[in-house]
Amino acid sequence: MFETLQATARLSATLRVVSAIRIGAGRDTSIDSSDLPVVKDLFGRPFIPGSSIKGAVRSYVERIVRTLAPPRWGAKATCNPTGPRAGWCVSDLTRESFHDPADGRLLDRPIYDAHCPVCKLFGSPWIASKVAFADATLIGETWFGKYIVRDGVSIDRDTGTAADARKFDFEVVPGGTEFDFQVRADNPSDLELGLLYLGITALQRKELAFGGMTSRGPGLVELVEPEWRRTRFDASSDDLLAELLGPGGSPLRSEDLESWARDAIDYLRRGEELCTV
Ligand SMILES: [Zn+2]
Repeated sequence: MFETLQATARLSATLRVVSAIRIGAGRDTSIDSSDLPVVKDLFGRPFIPGSSIKGAVRSYVERIVRTLAPPRWGAKATCNPTGPRAGWCVSDLTRESFHDPADGRLLDRPIYDAHCPVCKLFGSPWIASKVAFADATLIGETWFGKYIVRDGVSIDRDTGTAADARKFDFEVVPGGTEFDFQVRADNPSDLELGLLYLGITALQRKELAFGGMTSRGPGLVELVEPEWRRTRFDASSDDLLAELLGPGGSPLRSEDLESWARDAIDYLRRGEELCTV
């Protein structure tokens, strides 16, 4: 898609457990995971797979786009890779031909253009993602090295009653545990950055559930101390060196991110493209 790097935005923050979150059974790395399992690394320490965080943020952004897009877009406003009627916005059959305005030759429409705004940012089976979520790793001093074991009762989904009163034990990560949270976006347009910002603020508002549903409700986490930085690559600047040698770039102000988010909302309402790169 992009052969060169024009700009990179990075978010560093801390993900703090507010109320105990449950340890999942396995690592779910599928793109459509809207659950946020917390799993153990080889040393038995808890961590949250980046793919899970990305799946949850993506689902939230899809809901925003679906809500805002004009009715004429209908189901094409964004795809829905999760849920009972899962499906992507494009398929190999979506490739359309068009006449090159310069010389009238019949060309295949680039598959990138056929994608919904969410896929252009978060990727699809056909195009690369602009956004990478790192695994959220434990900030060691916030964990005392033990899990809390709780006992639960399995609930029958249909009746909402305890199924044969079967009891099971599960482990939770206690409140106060913190994880290092890192996101990187390559070549996002300002509007796409605004859309990503909207997804990230859901974590700040504690709206994305972690650890799956338990009989005591989902675990709560909150994203704190977010720090956004952006590097623009320019052959005449020193930014590239700064990017390679350290955090680099210049801070992005929350006023700017909010204004791009507002612009992104306006564009979506009008049914216009978010990517102008
Ligand atoms: Zn899509």
